[in-house]
Amino acid sequence: MTERDHGPDVKIETRTNDDYRALADAIEAYRETDDLPPQDDLWRVLGNLLAADLRDRFQNRAGVDRPADTACIRRLVTGEDECTCSNTRSWVDRELEQIGARDEPPHQPPHSDHATLWLDGDGEPAVYSMHVYPGNVLNYTPSKTADPDQQQRNGWFDIINWAEHWGLEVDVAPVSWYNPFRTVNVLFYPPERHRQTDE
Ligand SMILES: [Zn+2]
Repeated sequence: MTERDHGPDVKIETRTNDDYRALADAIEAYRETDDLPPQDDLWRVLGNLLAADLRDRFQNRAGVDRPADTACIRRLVTGEDECTCSNTRSWVDRELEQIGARDEPPHQPPHSDHATLWLDGDGEPAVYSMHVYPGNVLNYTPSKTADPDQQQRNGWFDIINWAEHWGLEVDVAPVSWYNPFRTVNVLFYPPERHRQTDE
């Protein structure tokens, strides 16, 4: 690597071998290419290369087996075996879900995007994951349908309040496997999932 300033106390290289140095040189050469279109930057390239591995790691760490056919979070809330909501909800319903409207067990949390309902080894719903662009959540202006005044809001509060209301816990995995380095992976799961050893 060149003399890039990594700031105080940041030691990048620990153990190296020839393969490591070859990769580092290739990355550095790519980074210095000055005619890349903005969307074709280093992070996208690395993200594409790593996405499948990151997804495998997520599955192992989360202890989940496979995706459900439909990414519906209502099954986590109610324990229903299946839900046929995917094509039956209106645009109005979806707009209201985006700000966490709460009249009945919802099918999506606020700001759901690129979502998966993960099943455990017994085929039971275990974890709902969604990949969001933090900037879209941070400063969100609802549609007129959801809020006639269209007040700008911080969607993280909607996500957290929504989860608390429906009895789910929230976690944020900093490295996403969908469009890695640009999105974060927000996870919802029932409280008992990580508390079984406390009983
Ligand atoms: Zn549903």
